[in-house]
Amino acid sequence: MPAAPVVVPLDGAPDVDVVVVGAGPAGASAALRLAERGLDVALVERAETPGAKNLSGGVLYLDALVCAVGDAWREAPLERVVTRNVTTLLTADAAVSLDYADSSLAGPPARGAAGAPNAATVLRARFDPWLAGRAEAAGAFPMPGMLVEALAVAEAPEAPGGRRVVGVVAGGQVMRSTAVVLADGVNSFLARGAGLRGEPAARDVAVGVKAVLGLDPRRIADRFGVAGDEGAAHAIIGDATLGVAGGAFLYTNRESLSLGVVLRLDDLVASGRTAREVFTHLLTHPGLQRYVADAEVLEYGSHLVAEGGAAMVGTVAWPGCVVVGDAAGLTLNSGLVLRGMDLAITSGLAAGDVIADAVAAGDPDATLAYQELLTASSAYRDLAAHAGMPDLLDRRGPYGPWGETARDVLRATYTIDGSDTVPLRVALRRALRRQGWRTWLGDARRIWRSA
Ligand SMILES: Cc1cc2nc3c(=O)[nH]c(=O)nc-3n(C[C@H](O)[C@H](O)[C@H](O)COP(=O)(O)OP(=O)(O)OC[C@H]3O[C@@H](n4cnc5c(N)ncnc54)[C@H](O)[C@@H]3O)c2cc1C
Repeated sequence: MPAAPVVVPLDGAPDVDVVVVGAGPAGASAALRLAERGLDVALVERAETPGAKNLSGGVLYLDALVCAVGDAWREAPLERVVTRNVTTLLTADAAVSLDYADSSLAGPPARGAAGAPNAATVLRARFDPWLAGRAEAAGAFPMPGMLVEALAVAEAPEAPGGRRVVGVVAGGQVMRSTAVVLADGVNSFLARGAGLRGEPAARDVAVGVKAVLGLDPRRIADRFGVAGDEGAAHAIIGDATLGVAGGAFLYTNRESLSLGVVLRLDDLVASGRTAREVFTHLLTHPGLQRYVADAEVLEYGSHLVAEGGAAMVGTVAWPGCVVVGDAAGLTLNSGLVLRGMDLAITSGLAAGDVIADAVAAGDPDATLAYQELLTASSAYRDLAAHAGMPDLLDRRGPYGPWGETARDVLRATYTIDGSDTVPLRVALRRALRRQGWRTWLGDARRIWRSA
């Protein structure tokens, strides 16, 4: 729960230059950059091991990782390189898929990031400790198993707003620092407790439920049409979520699959269903059995996802404190891709640079420059480019009508049963009329604005 900040005197020697709260991708990247720039950094994580409390679908876009660790991306515990992206409209009795397989995805992206492929799947229980380990190797001091209870603030008349964050409270003691990086995830209790950020609206967060399903690698290759270390990322909408606003994903790892749903909290509550019920529906859906049959559930967990887009980001910098990653609302759901880890890394690196400059200048209030740097970053620009996405995801079309229309048109086209065949244009017109022209126009306009 949000805890009020502890007010301490302004004067006092810092115990460390920077406290980073949270050793997810955002915090580990910030700690890495700060340590590389010669600062004394404590990376505080409430879990005994980084990643133990974290959860992702698992597709990591690698450009950000390369910016963080350079060529060492090759040592990262990646599962499979994503060379196949499949988008499926699911109905109760049919699945209509767009299958984008492209060998160029196995090589570096156009900007040529150190030979890294575009994207790979990761399992957080392996990836987070690795990235936090890079920060430690660079000189950051890891403090696992320690919950930060509150921020420590001081009256500072010369600081904009008259207050400055001067450390954190952990284990009942104040740990003083020149700056604090809040990388504590989507709930961001510390910033909320200090009144720096408000509680996210139910419309701006989703519940993610995910299972890791063990499956023999040969079966993965056969079922998903991938070879060697290549993998597939399936985005699934429609009957996957029992009509609740959201979507599902199915990703391939080396010896397992990651299957999950992301359900917008307000709509889930309104539906009267539970996230577990929707997940069970997905796991047993006939349209997915050719992929998941006989797979064994190895892990199961749930976590909140930020869904509010750029509008959720708001203020992320104060004197002595910056907010990064999910805590800043930096998750992008474009309908086809879900990105959070790469935005977390990008924001962590930006925070590291701003704070290193602020410490070098002897001006803790220079942390305010992070707001502008983040807004100019590719992470924020990508979010802003999809600003209309939450509105599109508000429509009912993605959760039923789109898939039913696609199914009806294709069924009419492919069914040859002795009666007169229906030309595609007629099948399309009939299907669109059944759903209503006005609905389709509304959906199309929002797709045009946001996708
Ligand atoms: C179901 C699901 C699927 C997703 N799929 C994808 C995907 O495919 N690709 C993608 O890029 N993103 C995906 N995301 C989003 C991604 O997981 C997040 O954007 C990413 O984890 C954000 O990283 P972070 O470091 O900001 O926060 P987190 O990973 O949440 O890390 C926060 C850390 O802070 C620690 N912490 C919190 N409070 C305290 C405290 N008070 N004291 C000490 N430590 C604290 C936590 O234990 C945790 O380790 C998905 C998310 C979910 C839930």
